[in-house]
Amino acid sequence: MIIEFSTKDDFYHAADGFLNSSWDSVTEHLHEFEALRGAINGLDHEDESNRYWASAKQTLVSATALVQQAVEFYIKGRIANVSPYLLISGNPQTWPRGANKKDIEFSAFRTLDAQDLIKVHDTVCPERFSDQFIQWNESMRTIRNRVIHTVDKSLAVTPEEVINSILYTHSYFNASECWFSSRRKYLENTPVNSMKSIRSEENYESHLTHTLLVDYRLTIDILPPAACKKYFSYDKKVKSFHCPSCSHTVSCMDFWDDEFIHDCAKTYQKLSESEVYLCRLCGHEGRILERNCEEYGCEGTLQDSEYGTCFSCFAENALQQSN
Ligand SMILES: [Zn+2]
Ligand SMILES: [Zn+2]
Repeated sequence: MIIEFSTKDDFYHAADGFLNSSWDSVTEHLHEFEALRGAINGLDHEDESNRYWASAKQTLVSATALVQQAVEFYIKGRIANVSPYLLISGNPQTWPRGANKKDIEFSAFRTLDAQDLIKVHDTVCPERFSDQFIQWNESMRTIRNRVIHTVDKSLAVTPEEVINSILYTHSYFNASECWFSSRRKYLENTPVNSMKSIRSEENYESHLTHTLLVDYRLTIDILPPAACKKYFSYDKKVKSFHCPSCSHTVSCMDFWDDEFIHDCAKTYQKLSESEVYLCRLCGHEGRILERNCEEYGCEGTLQDSEYGTCFSCFAENALQQSN
């Protein structure tokens, strides 16, 4: 009998891991490049940028291969959800020796080749892939094959393209979940954050939120408005504020300086045809009041209705008692 089948959840979990590793490697360069940017002489900017990203090519290409790996695992997960037996490839002669004599793990069997996955998926799963997805997947596979089989000098991948393909893949297979929720779960389980002593630190939540807010800003900076809307419901064209709830969390960090808030995304946006603001990261909802800030030297006039947080200096003002 075959034992220890991989389930849909196992495949999805591994696929999420591939996307997150890919994300880590690209954003690490984006952060580094951003930090260097200030030091570059204005005229050299384009040349320096080209040099930097040309040297990051291998990382970007590997990050793209990870996305393709994630796609395969998501598809395998969907097939396993119908029946894991469908993933076993080859005729019985090629099955592991002695499979009929003793219990044998699923992982010992050869599974379907990547090029057969879509066909099997579309044959057994209730919902077939869209033409657009199939085309996109084909182009990703081409890139991956070029990466694996040869050193292709003409192959160029930009960080935006990798970020876009991570978000496309994630939203295609996890329709209801925002990328940053997956990101949070992943960050909660990094080797460091898995340690109990780290998790119980007061700063833990602040650091996590700070990482997400910085990544969020970086992401909306490089993505076009349509992609921000599609993946985060984020409208780049409306005026945005720092979320009072997220700001409160990050400002509890050790050695916090108010300047740090500028690294964080302004995720608080007014919902259309409503007075309500919503944080696109944490989901905090509130209204903005027009009131002078009581903090000495601050000229801010906008405050959050729930926390009394001033949107200029982030001090928390006492709330007026309503009758
Ligand atoms: Zn928030
Ligand atoms: Zn203020």
